[in-house]
Amino acid sequence: MKHSPPSSITPAIIGGGYAGMAAAAELTSRGIKVTVFESAKQLGGRARGVLHNDTQLDNGQHLLLGCYRETLRLIELVGGDIEKDFLRLPLQLELHGQFSLKVPRLPAPLHLLVALLNAQGLTWGERMKAAGFMLKLQGMNFKLEQDKTVQQLLAEFGQDADLTLKLWEPLCIAALNTPIHKASAQVLLNVLRDSLNRNRADSDMLLPRIDFTALFPQRAAEYVERHGGKIYTSCGVEAINALLPLQGGGDVVDKKLTDINPNSAGFELVTSQGNHTFSHVICAAPPSVAAKLLRPIPEMAQTVSQIEALEQQPIYTVYLQYPQHVRLPHPMIGLHQRFSQWLFDKGQIAAQHGLLAAVISAEGIHQALSQDDLAEKVIFELREEFGIVARPDWFKVIAEKRATFCCSPNLDRPTQRTAIPNLLLAGDYTDGDYPATLEGAVLSGLRCAALCLPERK
Ligand SMILES: Cc1cc2nc3c(=O)[nH]c(=O)nc-3n(C[C@H](O)[C@H](O)[C@H](O)COP(=O)(O)OP(=O)(O)OC[C@H]3O[C@@H](n4cnc5c(N)ncnc54)[C@H](O)[C@@H]3O)c2cc1C
Repeated sequence: MKHSPPSSITPAIIGGGYAGMAAAAELTSRGIKVTVFESAKQLGGRARGVLHNDTQLDNGQHLLLGCYRETLRLIELVGGDIEKDFLRLPLQLELHGQFSLKVPRLPAPLHLLVALLNAQGLTWGERMKAAGFMLKLQGMNFKLEQDKTVQQLLAEFGQDADLTLKLWEPLCIAALNTPIHKASAQVLLNVLRDSLNRNRADSDMLLPRIDFTALFPQRAAEYVERHGGKIYTSCGVEAINALLPLQGGGDVVDKKLTDINPNSAGFELVTSQGNHTFSHVICAAPPSVAAKLLRPIPEMAQTVSQIEALEQQPIYTVYLQYPQHVRLPHPMIGLHQRFSQWLFDKGQIAAQHGLLAAVISAEGIHQALSQDDLAEKVIFELREEFGIVARPDWFKVIAEKRATFCCSPNLDRPTQRTAIPNLLLAGDYTDGDYPATLEGAVLSGLRCAALCLPERK
């Protein structure tokens, strides 16, 4: 028999990004009514739709992998259809005119080995080195005894400069948004393990045909509301107050945060639209906001210092609207040693003909340029590489300066469970196997949801 959850579980979720909405959807599917507070007008956070010149963009071009199983499951739970919502492509790394790797339709991990041995733009010796490296990683079960930088790992396994520049560096920056000299080898191996070593479809690249607010957070909000939960947008949380039970039962009394003890009877959230009381709080705000909300709570000092120690990395996306006939040779194509790292043809992906997106991940010299100068560099590169002589009708540069945490070795990431029972932490930066990704955010939200549920006896 299915047990209904106790009605005393009344969770609040701070932040309607992918982590918060994953927690909200999961709890709703378990029969729990949740309340979500989102400070922005729209849901989605760092993966949100942006309207510009009547054209639907995102705050940055995103890509999912087939191994993002929980994100894909939740999109379907709230009414999405993966095959309609995405253009699914077999893993293909194409650096225009320099390098090309395409996985054949063979079972994993054979597909990758065959792809590496057939890669164009590498010498036979380099292909053997890359395939040998992958075999060794499989032999180690993708687990290092001691974490190190990706650069150190590549040097240890004899991956020379050309191989690194064409294959491993673009892969590392795309996966971890961190340059190889700073990036955690173990986290990169976690991504390789899950995307390349299980099923062939895990390495598929999924390019969304709809914007990132519509893809999941908005559907999740509708799902939550259909089941009796509440979503407040434009309603930021300003403070978290713990409530203490009166001795011998009775009403709860509000106490200052500094007075709280771990036997809290719940939490009061101070919001821009009044105060509300809940049994659990899942703080799924971005790290800087989470630190601000938790700082006044003495028990959270350790968590706050973990959050404050995380460095951030940027991602820039340059959208360019060209005449409709302009297209790229592939829906997604990389450039070697250029400002534009990856180019996306939104015409081929989402029928937005002539709209191109250039993505520049992680720190670099592009940060010193003005937005107009950066766009001109991209326009120049498109002309040189693909002969696109037309000028774009418009361009829009979206600079997310704090896009993700810098995924360096041995990071001490805060756990979802905190020093205060029922005060939980979700977000891509919280403890987990993955770098800052949608799947990492979703998994953290699911862990928080599980922590709100009564333990199974
Ligand atoms: C440009 C860019 C490109 C990316 N590309 C990829 C990619 O290709 N693939 C991939 O997997 N990942 C990618 N990522 C990373 C991915 O977007 C993030 O890991 C993920 O969206 C983080 O989700 P989150 O819920 O943890 O945090 P957030 O998305 O930051 O959500 C936090 C939410 O809390 C809200 N909030 C803030 N303050 C308050 C408050 N006081 N009260 C209430 N709400 C508040 C915010 O408005 C926000 O909606 C990219 C990120 C960026 C920026």
